[in-house]
Parts: sequence; structure tokens; C-alpha cells
Amino acid sequence: MSRIRIVIMGPPGVGKGTYAQAVASRFRVPHISTGELLRREIAASTELGLKTKVFVEKGVLVPDEIVNEVLCKYLSSEECKLGYVLDGYPRTLTQAAFLETVAPVDVAILLEAPLEVIVERISGRLYCPSCGRVYHARWRPPTVEGVCDACGTPLTRRRDDEPSVVATRFKQFYETSGGVVEFYRRLGKLFVFDASVDSSVGVPLLLEKLERLLSAKLRAEKVQQEQVA
Ligand SMILES: [Zn+2]
Repeated sequence: MSRIRIVIMGPPGVGKGTYAQAVASRFRVPHISTGELLRREIAASTELGLKTKVFVEKGVLVPDEIVNEVLCKYLSSEECKLGYVLDGYPRTLTQAAFLETVAPVDVAILLEAPLEVIVERISGRLYCPSCGRVYHARWRPPTVEGVCDACGTPLTRRRDDEPSVVATRFKQFYETSGGVVEFYRRLGKLFVFDASVDSSVGVPLLLEKLERLLSAKLRAEKVQQEQVA
């Protein structure tokens, strides 16, 4: 298998992390989130890490130049020799254009699911504030409704999981990422996948489609190279 570079996008709660992990392990490439890379730089107290820390401590977004520099350093490392699966990057057109200049994407996957599906998925999550057990109203309900099986404490919902918060973040994703999605569409690199089914069904389906897509792409490139030669 030759080098493979993938970007995964989608609204919060669509299951990006799960899909990204699966794709990364299938193609034996690292699954990278820029947040994780920034945290590593800070922990290692590198020059870039110290610059990053200033913004993180102020609670403001780390500027594009720094994120790009951290990413560039990582993409040129041995770890990314066979490619990458990027999650949470690019968020802006500037970042998307930058990535094309340093390590062009092969496929940009957009995971989609209707808002109602995502709301049900996320807002069904219930937590025990006492022992930390996690439940789901539909898929992992407690024996007695609203009460923790282990300790009998009334279950609660995290504020971020409230339907109104989920709806706002859903809308925000399309507002901020619309340009990036369009950017990949115009390059012919966008691959839209319906992630409204459960990930146990969705993950194998995505992997199968992705493999077919990539082998077709590889064949086309080979033909092109032979014609040039
Ligand atoms: Zn409990």
C-alpha cells in the first residue's frame, strides 16, 4: 500500500473519533488531532510549545501560523511516512490551502447525519454524578429509569449534551466549515458518507467504500504515470 492522506470532517457527535480511529488502523497510519499535537509541544516545552502556551493560558484560539508550523513539523516526521488521518484540521480555508502545499490530501471525508439523529445520540447520554457511570436512555438504560444501577444516585445530563447546545454546535460546524467542505469539493477530493447509522454498521461500510475509492484512484495515477513515461 502506498502513502495515504485523509482528512475527516463532520459536526460534533457524528462519530468522527470512532471513524478516524478505524480508518487510521485499517491503513496503518497515525490518527492525528492538532489539539493533541499542541499539547505534546507544550508538554515538551519546545519553542513552539512555549509560544502555544501563551494563547492556551489566555483561553484564546491558537493562531493559524503556530498550528500550521506544529502540524508541518509533525507531517514531515518519520511517523507520517505512510500518511495520516487528520481530525479537527483544517478548520479554515487558510489551513486547508496550507495543507495542500505541504502534504496534499487524497480524500476529505465528510461524515453527515441529520440533527435529530445526533440529538438523540448525544442527549440520551446520562451520567451518575456520584460514581461516574455512563448510560444511554436508549442503548444502555439503567434498570430503574433515571437512577444509577451501582449506587442509586439520580442520573444527570451534561450541559454540553442538552439538545439546544447540540443544535447550536451543529449549526456552527456548517457555518465555520462550509468553506473548507466546498474547497475539497472543487478539488474533487470530497467524499460524503452517511453516518446516521450506528457506527458498528457504518465503520465497515465506510472502510469498504474508501478502499474501493482509493484503489480506483491509485489505478488512475498509475495509468497517468505510464502515459508520461
Ligand atoms: Zn452511580
